Amino acid sequence: MNQNVPELFGSMVFDDRVMRARLSADVYQSLRKTIDENAKLQEDVAEAVASEMRDWAVEKGATHFTHWFQPLTGVTAEKHDSFISPSPDGGVIMEFSGKELIKGEPDASSFPSGGLRATFEARGYTAWDPTSYAFIKDHTLCIPTAFCSYSGDALDKKTPLLRSMQALDRQAKRILKLFGKEVKNVRTSVGPEQEYFLIDKEMFDQRPDLIYTGRTLFGAMPPKGQELDDHYFGVIKPRVTAFMEDLNNELWKLGILAKTEHNEVAPAQHELAPIFSTTNVATDNNQLTMEIMQKVARKHGLVCLLHEKPFAGVNGSGKHNNWSMATDTGMNLLSPGETPHENAQFLLFLCAVIQAVDDYQDLLRLSVATAGNDHRLGANEAPPAIISVFLGDELSGILDSIKNDTPYQGAEKVIMKLGVHSLPRFSRDTTDRNRTSPFAFTGNKFEFRSLGSSNSIACCNIMLNAAVAESLKQYADRLEGAKEFESELHELIKETIKKHERILFNGNGYTDEWVKEATEVRGLSNLKTTVDAMPHLLDKKNMDMLTSHQVFSETELNSRFEIMLENYCKTVNIEGHTMVDMVRKNYLPAIEGYLYSLAKTTSLMKGVSSNVKCNYEISTMERLSELTDYILERVKDLEQALADLKGYDDILKTAEAIRDDVIPKMEHLRKHVDEAEMLTSEKCWPFPSYGKLLFSVY
Ligand code: ADP
Ligand code: MG
Repeated sequence: MNQNVPELFGSMVFDDRVMRARLSADVYQSLRKTIDENAKLQEDVAEAVASEMRDWAVEKGATHFTHWFQPLTGVTAEKHDSFISPSPDGGVIMEFSGKELIKGEPDASSFPSGGLRATFEARGYTAWDPTSYAFIKDHTLCIPTAFCSYSGDALDKKTPLLRSMQALDRQAKRILKLFGKEVKNVRTSVGPEQEYFLIDKEMFDQRPDLIYTGRTLFGAMPPKGQELDDHYFGVIKPRVTAFMEDLNNELWKLGILAKTEHNEVAPAQHELAPIFSTTNVATDNNQLTMEIMQKVARKHGLVCLLHEKPFAGVNGSGKHNNWSMATDTGMNLLSPGETPHENAQFLLFLCAVIQAVDDYQDLLRLSVATAGNDHRLGANEAPPAIISVFLGDELSGILDSIKNDTPYQGAEKVIMKLGVHSLPRFSRDTTDRNRTSPFAFTGNKFEFRSLGSSNSIACCNIMLNAAVAESLKQYADRLEGAKEFESELHELIKETIKKHERILFNGNGYTDEWVKEATEVRGLSNLKTTVDAMPHLLDKKNMDMLTSHQVFSETELNSRFEIMLENYCKTVNIEGHTMVDMVRKNYLPAIEGYLYSLAKTTSLMKGVSSNVKCNYEISTMERLSELTDYILERVKDLEQALADLKGYDDILKTAEAIRDDVIPKMEHLRKHVDEAEMLTSEKCWPFPSYGKLLFSVY
């Protein structure tokens, strides 16, 4: 094991250290300008960078290069080309041009485009994103890229993410200017905390449901679940420790700041958190982390499950998106400042986020919507599907006093006058306790907790950045024209608090009272499933906002709506068919086998003695036989529901039928099979039990 972490860290990344050391001063300066200020990339610079990149990669043992991108499938894509080029003497030389660095043309016609490409070009192109460093993985130089169609429509998650960051940068700089601050850029930073399960590969390989869908579709509860809370932050088992060490090494090589790891609430569940970085880089790194987790797990005879709900009755896995805004000068815009002036600025940015979350609750909700995450949100283990903001008592108290012109009950007991009074320092502890809130202020950042473990963090950050850019734009428009800045600012903050306080909630989000209050009194939206949420992408207010900040075009939004629903339908469809398959080929025959042995035993025993009652054999047999009849009926129902889906030609109608018809039938079928599992000898049961899956890694 390599213990020299500083030497190992980033050793496979063409990062700033490498650029500075290898590029000429001119080329380096020019590239930095592109990275820091979005300046156009010069052709000769690209040529020089490509040449150094190739030399560096070849020295590190790379033979291939790829444009690495994030199509709408949710995973990353790469197509490898080797560096080799024939030389006149019959040999080869290693070549890589500036053109190859900047632009690629993957034959990507099979990636989902939501009908976008059909009307334009069949092929798209990838374009180098110099703001995320190139790296080497499996002897291949990976160049982070954006993926677009020839007409310029985004076919990936990175393009709109970069656009949303630009939108926020533009508006935030206008605001800072009003406070007398000129900065080069404002960027959002993200630290995503990633949850996952580790199970034994031998067990995994025996379960078709895990293989095909990433989650168990059947399984009775084991005698022990997570009720003892003995796994949370518990001692990490040796096999898991070995996995984590190996994982850290691999991530560090790629310059990923893997920092914290611990056991989670459920048995076999763990978490990894990196140190935060720029959203764009954090997104690339999180995709890589998920990929490498799975790869390293296999090396240890384990399988890493990233599904949001691998096991019913046991906590699922999520991802926390810790988000803040910072300037290139190192100022965190969500950090309360030292002076009254800084505090007014902090409160304005705080208001911008509160307003953004209230105005675009539906966009945030749908940005984390997938078939897998539908199992978590609102299930009393993850935040509810209702989006609200937690600020903690101190900050809420301050906002209240500003809103009402009443004295703040803090140390000073004064009427808070912006630009005059300082805010008290909030202790982090009082801000980080509410685990039920989907969107919590945690001292100097917001933590969006509704993400599913397998979600790309790009989606929610696109919406968040764009929505905050919109609030900031409205504020800048108003304040730039103000006669008296300070008093207009005070009015603006006061009005914003009044208008958007309905989104603020510090209480327990799991209670029925909250659902009632949120929806009936406050009018917040409660979009329970992906199918309920997704149509809001095309609501006029949402389309207007996203297009006006040039984050998406109308065509792109329409295509994304289709793709996301298509993805939902395909996912559940595969699950439904897997259930049918397992029931018909494995569960029914297995129960039948056990019934045979019960019947045989009974008749043999009765043949030997007329005194035996065979109560156990007969009652078990009767109930199991009844259950097999139910199972047969339920599996036929499900088959019919799945077949009916073919009758719809509209994606929303199909998705609704899945929500209303297919999923309830899947649940019904499962219930009977799980009951049969409890009555059947384990020897006859065809698949490893929950107990084995959850408790066999040491
Ligand atoms: P926890 O939420 O478990 O208490 P922390 O709050 O320390 O842990 O950190 C959680 C994540 O938030 C980490 O990935 C950390 O790097 C990230 N984080 C910390 N500060 C910021 C910030 N200003 N902006 C974005 N992410 C941050
Ligand atoms: Mg956290």
